Amino acid sequence: MVEDDLSAQHGECSAPEERPVGDARMCEDCNVCCTMMYVRPLDKAAGTRCEHQTSEGCGIYATRPNVCREWYCMWVRDRLGVLRDEHRPDKLGVFFSVTTIDEKTQAQQINAHEVYPGASNKAEPKRIIDYFRQFVPVKVIGARNNGFIALTASAAAQVA
Ligand code: SF4
Ligand code: SF4
Repeated sequence: MVEDDLSAQHGECSAPEERPVGDARMCEDCNVCCTMMYVRPLDKAAGTRCEHQTSEGCGIYATRPNVCREWYCMWVRDRLGVLRDEHRPDKLGVFFSVTTIDEKTQAQQINAHEVYPGASNKAEPKRIIDYFRQFVPVKVIGARNNGFIALTASAAAQVA
């Protein structure tokens, strides 16, 4: 399994204490996953900017691949009620996704994707990872190719 393959994962987690189903957040300035994830239909490697990323968002929004339409990280729809607004991936330095690790039992694992090297060792991401680990296995996936470089000034200020 490719751990940062957009096609192989989903952003939801069927765990208790769910947020209301319709309570989704907007990505706004965050486009971290467009850099950090492997996008199979585009043959875009993990940790490299997508050629369609712009400071205004996706440059081919209307015709973007289905995996880009369907995928979102756990922050967007946080059914666990753990991630606060200020935990948006470009601000936190880590984003979370869920993957099924056993088709037979449907056992799930949370992947904690670093946005830049070492991000998962910072206090707040570590606290969240430790919290999730009470319920499900959590695998930390290190940032590749030095990680995300913000495309907008506001996002750059948040990551710095
Ligand atoms: S990492 Fe999450 S919040 Fe950021 S652009 Fe992707 S889906 Fe949206
Ligand atoms: S096609 Fe658009 S949505 Fe998909 S990874 Fe590239 S910039 Fe992001």
